[in-house]
Amino acid sequence: MSEVSLPAVSREWHLVARPQGWPTAEDFALREVPVTAPEQGRILVRNLHMSVDPYMRGRMNDVKSYVPPFQLDRPMDGGAVGVVVASAAEGFAVGDHVLHGLGWREYADVDAAHATKVDPDLAPLSAYLGVLGMPGLTAYAGLFETASFKEGDAVFVSGAAGAVGSLVGQFARIKGASRVVGSAGSAEKVTVLTEKYGFDAAFNYKDGPVAGQLAEAAPEGIDVYFDNVGGDHLQAAIGALKLNGRATLCGAIAQYNDTEPAPGPNNLAMVIGKRLRLQGVLVSDHAAIQPKFVQDVAGWLRSGELVYDETAVQGIESAVQAFLGMLRGENTGKMIVSFNG
Ligand code: NAP
Repeated sequence: MSEVSLPAVSREWHLVARPQGWPTAEDFALREVPVTAPEQGRILVRNLHMSVDPYMRGRMNDVKSYVPPFQLDRPMDGGAVGVVVASAAEGFAVGDHVLHGLGWREYADVDAAHATKVDPDLAPLSAYLGVLGMPGLTAYAGLFETASFKEGDAVFVSGAAGAVGSLVGQFARIKGASRVVGSAGSAEKVTVLTEKYGFDAAFNYKDGPVAGQLAEAAPEGIDVYFDNVGGDHLQAAIGALKLNGRATLCGAIAQYNDTEPAPGPNNLAMVIGKRLRLQGVLVSDHAAIQPKFVQDVAGWLRSGELVYDETAVQGIESAVQAFLGMLRGENTGKMIVSFNG
């Protein structure tokens, strides 16, 4: 086994109470645990960046879903990138950089079968949690596969300044959308959408009813809606979709902290007359297109056609605040927690 000298303890975030509605700091605890050398087939990783994602809110509830709930008084997990500091696994050496699923902790004892080597010379390491990682693939699969996007489509995306949404809009522009419209939660984000990401129009959904603002931004209607939000955004989009329009239902973040089920869109009957297709996407179903996704996105980044943002919060102590901040909209692009030292 190869290793550098290891620290005695690591800190990790545990869920200690299941949130009712909005999570609070009291639902989490940062705890110290001993660091031990990895057993055969495993690697010890010092995490450098970890991801906080909206789906983690669902994992804080004790309900059956497509990912199991976090357990109380156990470390939470999620995407992370780090550097190998001890290896008892063939093919992994100290100093290798890896992407894996054991975030929310400083040191991760990872089954090597669940670690993927990443190249820090190809892209900044945090990009493997965003534009070149899970959110990027979600945007790519949800737009090109689920929504069957084609050149000339007019596209509307909600949550447009976030990790997934900012890429959806730019992918659509790059692939020849006739119009790209986005909504986001502040005037600053709206400016980023039009000035930096090249959206044709954008609006702040907090300024007034979504339906009216969408009608102004896309007077001829839309062919594709990429839904990150649910609620009145979805209702407005159903109203704006043209004949044979398609909607990718990717997320419903407006409802993740609700304590009662939210009412559904009141205009679903339009789906019939307009022959709309509303389809959910789960990124985990689309691993097969990962190589094409990386090839396309790396190419667009190299050519400068695609840009991306990250909002980085420093230190494991700040991870819960970063997660809550992301739910409140404090991020532009991907919310990342970067570890000091
Ligand atoms: P993100 O957009 O980077 O961050 C979340 C954003 O949601 C916040 O920045 C905030 O921006 C917005 N938001 C919060 N409350 C809102 C509300 N009530 N109404 C409208 N917007 C609200 O997160 P992400 O990682 O890219 O994820 C975006 C969506 O995709 C989420 O719904 C997530 O669950 C979903 N997702 C699904 C899959 C899948 O496989 N299906 C995979 C990844 C992500 P504002 O300032 O604009 O409000």
